[in-house]
Amino acid sequence: MNLVRIAMLILSFCGEVFAVGPISTSAIGSSQYSQSSLYSTPDRVTVHVLGLFHPNELVVSAEANHPIVALTARHKIIIGDSLCPHAILSPIGGHVSFRCGEFRTSAPQISFSSADGDAPFALTVPGKLRRDYRGKLQISAGKNELIAVVEMDIETAVASIVGAELPGDMPFEAMKAQAVVTRSYLAASGHRHAEAEFCDTTHCQFLRSPPLPVSPAARATAATKSLVLTWQGKPFPAMYSASCGGTSRTLAQAGYRQRDYPYFAVECSFCRRHPERGASPGHGIGFCQRGAAAMAQDGEDYRGILAHYFPNTEIRATDSGPHTQPN
Ligand SMILES: [Zn+2]
Ligand SMILES: [Zn+2]
Repeated sequence: MNLVRIAMLILSFCGEVFAVGPISTSAIGSSQYSQSSLYSTPDRVTVHVLGLFHPNELVVSAEANHPIVALTARHKIIIGDSLCPHAILSPIGGHVSFRCGEFRTSAPQISFSSADGDAPFALTVPGKLRRDYRGKLQISAGKNELIAVVEMDIETAVASIVGAELPGDMPFEAMKAQAVVTRSYLAASGHRHAEAEFCDTTHCQFLRSPPLPVSPAARATAATKSLVLTWQGKPFPAMYSASCGGTSRTLAQAGYRQRDYPYFAVECSFCRRHPERGASPGHGIGFCQRGAAAMAQDGEDYRGILAHYFPNTEIRATDSGPHTQPN
């Protein structure tokens, strides 16, 4: 093999690496992209789940007819058949101990996926709760607790958050607005934790099981697929709270340093009229869930709602979704 051939091989290898790697938003100028795809955002997110429970035991179960594969450096174990119906994991000396049927092993970390990518699976914290997920799971051991990280499609994450954050009878246009806000936060926040980009509590955004495809949360997510809020051409991690207390606050008013979008003091007529319901307004920055619900009830669509709470922003499609004109 001559040097030219080797150089070409290296080049083609590099080309592949560049092609598959996630492209960070900040590294890309907007000028090279068309109006409908102005930048690229990651279409996958990682979420540290169930950390609130500090689980010292977790059970991983497959869905019926959807076996999943557990991988360690040495073993490949199929979960979901009669030999191994579900896996029981616990932390032991910095490793993860793994039991499934008669099989036992331990490893620094164990990953779970299905042959065709994202698998539906359930995680159970014995005696506490069981939650469904769709994605790839990785489990490692922290100090006396298991660290479970789910890598999932960003749209799965948006639907799982919208379903957890909002009641099912929320007006649909307000739900669509929440889906855009949630997606913007996921697309533009970067790594918020050492273990994963996000956690599943209100510290980041509350995330539960993916809702059924027919649910309002899933339909609101699909209706706004790939849409994010942008300011000066870039998506930003849009903030929201249950209630703004009457007027939303700027970052400066809330004592935060400005990183990108400064936020504006926006009057929220619903919270003005119902101050008693704004008793625990939280930070009161950006999108107001109660105010948005009232605007939707009055006939406003999600674009009008977002324009109200996020002045001077634009809704744009990311690169990861279809470039259709949203409705
Ligand atoms: Zn968090
Ligand atoms: Zn409000």
